Amino acid sequence: MYAFEYHRPTTVAEAVSLLQGASDGKFLAGGHTLIPTLKQRLASPSDIIDLGAIADLKGIREDGDRLIIGALTTYSEVVESATARQAIPALAQLASHIGDSQVRNCGTIGGSIANNDPASDYPAAVLGLNATVRTNQREIAADDFFLGMFETALGEHEIITAVSFPKPVKAGYMKFPNPASRYAIVGVMVAQTDGGVRVAVTGAGPCVFRLPDFEQALASNFAPGALDGLSVSSANLNTDIHASAEYRAHLVKVMAKRAVAAAR
Ligand SMILES: Cc1cc2nc3c(=O)[nH]c(=O)nc-3n(C[C@H](O)[C@H](O)[C@H](O)COP(=O)(O)OP(=O)(O)OC[C@H]3O[C@@H](n4cnc5c(N)ncnc54)[C@H](O)[C@@H]3O)c2cc1C
Repeated sequence: MYAFEYHRPTTVAEAVSLLQGASDGKFLAGGHTLIPTLKQRLASPSDIIDLGAIADLKGIREDGDRLIIGALTTYSEVVESATARQAIPALAQLASHIGDSQVRNCGTIGGSIANNDPASDYPAAVLGLNATVRTNQREIAADDFFLGMFETALGEHEIITAVSFPKPVKAGYMKFPNPASRYAIVGVMVAQTDGGVRVAVTGAGPCVFRLPDFEQALASNFAPGALDGLSVSSANLNTDIHASAEYRAHLVKVMAKRAVAAAR
């Protein structure tokens, strides 16, 4: 039996207060991770706090040289947004390859990065594009947000309200997807930003990470061939039924080169 109290607040303050008052509460966004977790009996929260009626968490807008995406914005809304497609084409392209249409119609950017699945796509975008995660309490730089497998810098009663992306000069994302789920076996975001080149890898290790030697090489020459002499160590990469650590190491370089070639 599922036994929890269901709440549908209309403001962020109300959502946080409900979470604070619950013995073991959980926010519900798109539900595409949380609901399967409940069905598998891996979690049994006392309270489910559905964020779906909080208008302040939704929407996509430009603010000067930044693209702001509300936490509750779905993947499909990013794909279909002319504003997002024009500001950061690589981000809209990344969102268009997440899961299937049902996942894209429900899954949200807030839910994806709060969950921080090692094979999720958005963490590579947030880290690679040097985004800032906005919460009800503070702003967290991407470099400080993703701490480990399913682990982030979010505090116990902290809610993501939006993600703020600086518009890059150029960016590209390529992934080698799991053919069944479309999760990334390896996905690489490369970006030329005002602060330099950034390369972020998802799917390969326990948590999204940057590749400083790739960044250095691409800073001198932003072309696929700049990565020719480099290799990726398989130490600390994931081995599972889908791919060995050695294969993932190989894929990181291949995807990085393709992402550079596709960058716009
Ligand atoms: C079949 C299938 C295929 C998939 N394929 C892919 C894929 O190719 N690539 C990919 O990246 N993902 C994939 N996913 C995962 C999907 O993107 C999920 O939607 C996502 O991981 C979680 O987002 P959600 O909005 O559904 O969050 P939920 O499941 O509602 O919540 C996930 C967690 O985040 C917390 N949370 C939610 N919103 C907030 C917030 N605003 N602030 C703080 N905490 C919050 C919740 O409490 C919960 O702990 C797939 C999922 C399925 C079921």
